[in-house]
Amino acid sequence: CGIVGYIGKRNTQNVLIEGLKKLEYRGYDSAGIAVFTDKGLEIAKAKGRLANLETKLENTPLIGSVGIGHTRWATHGKPSDVNSHPHTDDSHKFSVVHNGIIENYLELKEELIAEGHTFVSETDTEVISHLIAREYEGDIVKAVQKAISHMRGAYALGVLTEYEPNKLVAVRQASPLIIGVGEDENFIGSDIPAILEYTRNVYILNDGEMAVLTQDAVELMTIEGNFISREMIRVDWDA
Ligand code: GLU
Repeated sequence: CGIVGYIGKRNTQNVLIEGLKKLEYRGYDSAGIAVFTDKGLEIAKAKGRLANLETKLENTPLIGSVGIGHTRWATHGKPSDVNSHPHTDDSHKFSVVHNGIIENYLELKEELIAEGHTFVSETDTEVISHLIAREYEGDIVKAVQKAISHMRGAYALGVLTEYEPNKLVAVRQASPLIIGVGEDENFIGSDIPAILEYTRNVYILNDGEMAVLTQDAVELMTIEGNFISREMIRVDWDA
């Protein structure tokens, strides 16, 4: 239901949690984050209020400078720790947060299981992380493009892979997503208030578009891979 993503030099865990708090008005039943730590892509998630996730993180903080976070409004699979996002694949090298619904997820799930993938959750979202892992041949942007070509439905996505830890990939298809542009840091969010504390420079993605964020650049393109140049919006209101 709510998405936040960050790549930069701040304490990512705090940016994600604070951003998710700003999206609380959308309602949610669970929350989670994935951060690149010195151990790799680490995930923490918890059913219930954001405070439950914060309690978990107090004991084992995820220290790193790239991450994605999510508050979930369950559509497929009950609210539970394991059904919370971010979701990953068998290799645990990919991590995905998703708003929306993948309509053909059952058919994709059966196909992936037949190919040897093991699912741990009941969500439609988990097919996305397995699809991206299956399609990955050294380029996360191409893998995401191939994966979504198999998907029908509504999705805003934030995607990370341990293979390319300096990149954050975002996709918008019938579920809102914006990009926040900072200095040596960039953000994604399902709504502007999530990032307004850090930057007022925003790109609005349209359906069928994606973004590739590094610490010092944002590339916008169509999901077919055609680069887009877009005017940045300056947000002059306060959340
Ligand atoms: N369909 C996904 C799920 O149930 C995402 C729901 C959402 O937008 O929060 O996990």
